Amino acid sequence: MAGSLLIRNAEVAGHAGLVDVLARDGRIVAIGPALTAADDAPTIDAAGASVVPGLHDHHIHLMATAADAASVRLGPPEVVDRSGFERALTGADGRLPAGAWLRATAYHHSVAGDLDRDGLDALVPDRPVRVQDRTGARWTLNSAGVTAAGIDGLDAPEVERDPCGRPTGRIHRGDALLRGRLPAPDHVDLAQLGTQLAARGVTAVTDTTPYTSLSDLDRLAAAVRSGALPQRVVVTGGPELAGKPVPPGLEWGPVKLVIDDASYPSVDAIADGIATAHRHDRCAAIHCVTRASLALAVAAWDVAGARPGDRVEHGSVVPDDLATDLVRLGLTVVSQPGFVAERGDEYLAEVDADDLPFLYRCRSLLALGVPVLASTDAPYTRPDPWRAIAAAVERRTPSGQILGAAERMPVQDALALCTDGPVAVGGPADLCVLSAPLRDPTDVEVVATIRAGTVIWFPTG
Ligand SMILES: [Zn+2]
Repeated sequence: MAGSLLIRNAEVAGHAGLVDVLARDGRIVAIGPALTAADDAPTIDAAGASVVPGLHDHHIHLMATAADAASVRLGPPEVVDRSGFERALTGADGRLPAGAWLRATAYHHSVAGDLDRDGLDALVPDRPVRVQDRTGARWTLNSAGVTAAGIDGLDAPEVERDPCGRPTGRIHRGDALLRGRLPAPDHVDLAQLGTQLAARGVTAVTDTTPYTSLSDLDRLAAAVRSGALPQRVVVTGGPELAGKPVPPGLEWGPVKLVIDDASYPSVDAIADGIATAHRHDRCAAIHCVTRASLALAVAAWDVAGARPGDRVEHGSVVPDDLATDLVRLGLTVVSQPGFVAERGDEYLAEVDADDLPFLYRCRSLLALGVPVLASTDAPYTRPDPWRAIAAAVERRTPSGQILGAAERMPVQDALALCTDGPVAVGGPADLCVLSAPLRDPTDVEVVATIRAGTVIWFPTG
């Protein structure tokens, strides 16, 4: 816990003119003009710039985001066609030490079609390779990877096989299965990720990975305890961990349940998952990226009952009739408007015309009475909530088209989606000092990040 910290001459939403913000013992104790602190209290002069709440990325996958920094990206915008795909893979093969796994992410079928082990073998025969698709639902391994992970003799529904029974290399929703069969990820640098997040003003994250084993959380917990991750870290885990004690350093959030659009679970099975979460005094967070999966989730909540704090993760498509159900059940939507900024042109070309008006809604859901939070879902978009905020404000696709003009919202409203509440007396001193008054969310520079009254990021020099 820190002593005192004083920020002077700041623009703070809800306060007229420039004010000072005084923090003591991790909380904000005063906001107003001409405050004073103890002589030795650190003081930051905001010089008329905005002080905003520390950002909370409400849906992120920390381990995968850290691993992504050491992975090859095989999808747009970095790689868009087969020749780029081949160059990226063979180039990475040439750089890595012999025998090391080649990990690739962000693959999209528009680049080089549907992948399988034989296609990967033709490019990289001698080392184990695994390629994750852009949705995160599928890994494709080459033959060396299939052998190294011991997939050949494995009888598991996640492992796709051809009519002769030979694994195709495709593993569907098999993260938990693969985790025990791959070498420990040495290349995951959580300290680097912690600094990267702090540099963008992030003071809290919710890791929504549906981990099945408490030991999967060991590295995150250790990184929080050592300070490598200076953020407050909330974790979900899957239903397997619902009743388990949370590892020291972490906080339990909702229990993560996944509705897989490739094989729908029954309403009763989903309702069981919700009931399990509630029985352990935790909320439920259900992954829904289609209209059909959201309808299933609503049906399950109708069976199991909803409690405040239960959430729909993504809510990629929320038509009005289902929005009415969300209001009735009191559910929160945790959206990723950043997908509009990163993939909006593909959505305009490929998504059903019926669904387009309902993609990653934020403003219109709020207007209907649905609480909305926003997030990056990194590594599936970049781990920078300011990009999500800018996308909620502008709704601009990479080519500059506007997707969902009616969803555009004022910057302060978009900012609120990525926080835990306004800068207020009595609230936590989790703050972000900007370089200028907050007007244009596409051009935000963070000059200091403060968590519980302690500066966790300040540019050097
Ligand atoms: Zn996610």
